[in-house]
Amino acid sequence: MSIRVNGVSKSFGTFKALDNVSLDVPQGTLLALLGPSGSGKTTLLRIIAGLEWPDGGRIEEDGEDITDRHARQREVGFVFQHYALFRHMSVFENVAFGMRVRKEPAEKIKSRVDELLHLVRLDGLGGRKPSQLSGGQRQRVALARALAIRPRILLLDEPFGALDAKVRVELRQWLRRLHDEIGMTTVFVTHDQEEAFELADEVVVMNHGRVEQRGKPDEVFDKPATPFVMDFLGNVNVFHGRVENGRAFWHGVPIAYPDYPHAQPRPARVYLRPHELDIARAAPAGAAPAIESEKSLPATVLRQTRTGPITRITCQPLEGGGELNVDLPTAAARELAFLPGERVTITPRSVRVFLPDPEYVI
Ligand code: ADP
Ligand code: MG
Repeated sequence: MSIRVNGVSKSFGTFKALDNVSLDVPQGTLLALLGPSGSGKTTLLRIIAGLEWPDGGRIEEDGEDITDRHARQREVGFVFQHYALFRHMSVFENVAFGMRVRKEPAEKIKSRVDELLHLVRLDGLGGRKPSQLSGGQRQRVALARALAIRPRILLLDEPFGALDAKVRVELRQWLRRLHDEIGMTTVFVTHDQEEAFELADEVVVMNHGRVEQRGKPDEVFDKPATPFVMDFLGNVNVFHGRVENGRAFWHGVPIAYPDYPHAQPRPARVYLRPHELDIARAAPAGAAPAIESEKSLPATVLRQTRTGPITRITCQPLEGGGELNVDLPTAAARELAFLPGERVTITPRSVRVFLPDPEYVI
């Protein structure tokens, strides 16, 4: 089912939360709404869900105007950030809830819930209470519950926000597979650009209740349409690299990546967070190379920018490619006292590697 948001505006008192937003979400798309806190993402999602009414503009599903329909009449499943499972109900009953409300027959409910628990990899846990599950498992129950009524549209508002980083990464990969398996149209809200760029077919960047840019992840990254987008995305270093034989290569620097054990090289995007990079003065010419030098990237310092407690050191890798930002506590940066033009080596403490579809050209 496709969604069309046409010129939607919404004010709270004198505050304009959405300002003439238009958006097409074709059937089967996984679209990420990305933007800072307060940019209107949740308000837009609630309007698409039928939980909030726009002051102006229309919402269409498959070309039909559904602006005046309530959530219950929209075949929409949603999961919000603070997923509220019913504490006193078992996992099974939580998932069954929407079907019980719709008075579906018991056998049908049983087979559907079992199917969904299998889909979210929670087979056999139907009898547990939510308190007996981990955060990641609870979030999957919330997703199963949203899927139980066979929605044609799935709306997710920062569904993984409360979870730790490792679980988030697992769940988002799982969600991508689930979306593809079911063939839904999914709109996913996040303020985490890495999440948006890994997961989505299309990214919409929002700011102050407006759409700043919409495009495929690479388009938005490579050609930010506005200074806002450029600035907003500037917090992650992204490089085009490759994976091969259990390693990812970033400017020729190998990084362990056991998830891809195959010999056939594949293009990949490598994400490096500025605060997860170590930086050191390069050994003077003639000195013995440090043990870890194989994992380090030689670069030149371009400039330093201090923003309060953090100093950002912008470097140019010697092998070319885009600039690379390293964030250090300002006290540490002061101690190191790099000068523009100085040679340094940069070592990632942690990287994230994303493999786009094989057909997807990067
Ligand atoms: P986001 O999800 O991008 O963080 P929201 O859509 O939640 O943003 O909110 C956008 C703006 O609208 C915020 O400034 C928020 O305070 C305001 N807002 C949202 N809902 C309400 C409401 N029910 N009443 C008053 N202001 C609201
Ligand atoms: Mg929000």
